[in-house]
Amino acid sequence: MKRRNFIKKASATGLGLVAASTVLASCDNQEKDKKVTSSGTPVRPLVIATWDTPLAVGTAAEVLQKGGTALEAVEQGCRIEEANEKGQSVGKGGLPDRDGNVTLDACIMNEKGDYGAVLAVKDIKHVISVARKVMEETPHVLLAGEGAKKFALENGFEAENLLTEASKKAWEKWKIKSEYKPIINIENHDTIGMLAIDKEGNISGACTTSGLAYKMAGRVGDSPIIGSGLFVDNEVGGATATGLGEEVLKTVGSFLIVELMRQGKSPQEACEEAIGRIVNKPGKDFKDFQVAYIAVNKMGETGAYSIHEHFSYNLFKDGTNTNIKSDFYNKS
Ligand code: ASP
Repeated sequence: MKRRNFIKKASATGLGLVAASTVLASCDNQEKDKKVTSSGTPVRPLVIATWDTPLAVGTAAEVLQKGGTALEAVEQGCRIEEANEKGQSVGKGGLPDRDGNVTLDACIMNEKGDYGAVLAVKDIKHVISVARKVMEETPHVLLAGEGAKKFALENGFEAENLLTEASKKAWEKWKIKSEYKPIINIENHDTIGMLAIDKEGNISGACTTSGLAYKMAGRVGDSPIIGSGLFVDNEVGGATATGLGEEVLKTVGSFLIVELMRQGKSPQEACEEAIGRIVNKPGKDFKDFQVAYIAVNKMGETGAYSIHEHFSYNLFKDGTNTNIKSDFYNKS
């Protein structure tokens, strides 16, 4: 915001002069920080995604290399994991809720700051594409449950049973004890949060999941919630999360990371601080749950950090698609 416009706005909204000058100082810092981070040559195209997702990242990279947009890339990349029946935390084959229903959450955000999401949707595999349609073709941002499914069916998506034999078996085994512990399986995970920068330098992001296994019916985590599971600001960068959504929601993790990068932190520093906000809560017992973040800034610098070991991410950069082990907090 220009200084003059801000002052006008500040007095119109009754902000005192002291408060106004404090905020002005931070605006000036942002200008300074932008200069610091915008030196050098930006890396593009680039794709980064949570977990071991080489095919999804490769697909997104191909879209970008052919000149496609970051938005197109993240949608196409996420669809790969949604269709992968072996993955048990996203799309078809996702583990169900306690009642045996697979319900999916997804969101997408473009370089203009537009956003669309669907929550707790049954029977539709490619929820990331439904989220994009919500963003582009409705006056709304979030559609949930039956309404989201109705919207998907009206737009040509097909209904199918998302519960595979393997996931049904796992659920039946779980039902014997029916012991609900929100423990994240920290290995062999595939909930996908993806960020991409296209050749034009525009950033978009997407996130899609079946959420926590054996959750209560109707439970929605961070993944489809703007600022928690995903946030993109084309001036600054983007961030996305995976892990125990309740903890991400309570700290609005992805928005936090983007705002920290805006203030001059590197993506790595910002991810570490966001994890710190969770683990440093007084008396917080984090030994049984995982949360992980990835982030990218406008220059194509990336960061990743998790609470526990075994979080990895795929990065396509300078023509190479690599799975990288993330650094983590709990080294004890
Ligand atoms: N964050 C997702 C959720 O809480 C789960 C995950 O990433 O595995 O729904």
